[in-house]
Amino acid sequence: MFDVIVIGAGPAGMMAAGRSAELGNKTLLLEKTDSSGKKLLLSGNTRCNITNSCENLEDFINNFSESGKFLRNVFSVFFNKELLRFFRKRGLDFKVENNGKVFPVTDRAGDVLRILVKYVKDSGCQILYRKEVSDIIKQGDVFEIPTKDNSAYNAKKIILATGGLSYPQTGSTGFGFHIAKKLGHTVIKPKPGLTGIILKNNFLKEWQGVSFEDAEISVYADDRLIHKDRGEMIFTHFGISGPVMLHMSHIVYDTLDSGKEVFLSIDFKPNLNHHELGLAFQEEFKNNPAKKISNALKEFVPARLVKRILEAVPVEKDKRLAQVSKEEKSVILEKLKGFKLIVEAVKPIREAMVTCGGISVKEIDPKTMESKIVKGLYFAGEVIDIDGRTGGYNLQAAFSTGWAAGGG
Ligand SMILES: Cc1cc2nc3c(=O)[nH]c(=O)nc-3n(C[C@H](O)[C@H](O)[C@H](O)COP(=O)(O)OP(=O)(O)OC[C@H]3O[C@@H](n4cnc5c(N)ncnc54)[C@H](O)[C@@H]3O)c2cc1C
Repeated sequence: MFDVIVIGAGPAGMMAAGRSAELGNKTLLLEKTDSSGKKLLLSGNTRCNITNSCENLEDFINNFSESGKFLRNVFSVFFNKELLRFFRKRGLDFKVENNGKVFPVTDRAGDVLRILVKYVKDSGCQILYRKEVSDIIKQGDVFEIPTKDNSAYNAKKIILATGGLSYPQTGSTGFGFHIAKKLGHTVIKPKPGLTGIILKNNFLKEWQGVSFEDAEISVYADDRLIHKDRGEMIFTHFGISGPVMLHMSHIVYDTLDSGKEVFLSIDFKPNLNHHELGLAFQEEFKNNPAKKISNALKEFVPARLVKRILEAVPVEKDKRLAQVSKEEKSVILEKLKGFKLIVEAVKPIREAMVTCGGISVKEIDPKTMESKIVKGLYFAGEVIDIDGRTGGYNLQAAFSTGWAAGGG
């Protein structure tokens, strides 16, 4: 009989297991794959953007979806400073990159993982791999945890840290949602978060790899503007990705899901308003009347975009600037400030960086992570209905909820 069994050796489960054992509880960590932290190893392009340096708790929480307020309690106990101190104490230092993203100085997610595994083991927690939990059965005050290889383990407290549904090859295949529902919990419909957008436009292969440090993307549902955001984006073989698009993907998903048509309008020159861009055009046209419009446009957008923008106007690519009419000029300007692309779909949840949705926060004690429905059952990490933007927010949430579930 164990005091505590933790299910799932991702960042949340490892933190919970180590903390629980460190506090003197006889703890067992069960992991279905053959190693810990498979997703953690992929994080931040294998460099692990472990947290964000944002010091203000409310600003940090604003980077989560609505349910992020639930994290206020755990963040006030174990926040980014505490997390980095935890790793520094164990020999790993960090650096801050753009937008407050924190990475290990070694640029290796493996170094973060190694410290976590050592923490779990040094705390006295037992880890068993290739142990896929198949059920959670409560008999009186004791839980029985059967595994698919016909073993069974008992404990007084269970911490469910099995992740969401994204990147199932790393082990997170939605077990936690299924079992929490069975035990009486509400599971908010899981959907893809932080993922790319598939577009219908058939010329995208030509644009693949073209990126913008600053573009503004507006999302339209049935011709009505519903959201806009600005930042880095990249055209891919399927459509659009990059931080600004990833952050809007759940909005696009919800809109498509409600049966509406979605299109995106990209402002390639968000730094210049219509009037300012018009003046820049005028200058170019006045100074270079013999220049071809296709060459002139390269002054304003990456060369690979020019052909399709001119087709959309439409205007002949070899036309000299002196021959471009006022109307054509104005439509070109419109296209640069709002190029329309039609959305086909959002990348599926298995390819999404996070799962939006999960076990409702309303049924979890925000201080301890204990279920308000099943006494002795606790949750940690992405299995909970919490999702943040890119920038280290999701791992911080996994570590903080893990710490709290392990005993705080
Ligand atoms: C490609 C990619 C890059 C990312 N990069 C970042 C980043 O840089 N920064 C950031 O903040 N976030 C990042 N994220 C998100 C972040 O990795 C996750 O939010 C985080 O890993 C969630 O941790 P978790 O412990 O809750 O779940 P997981 O990491 O998914 O771990 C769950 C564990 O539970 C195990 N398990 C599942 N079911 C069972 C079962 N029945 N029995 C036993 N074990 C089971 C799984 O095998 C797995 O080991 C990234 C995600 C992806 C996919």
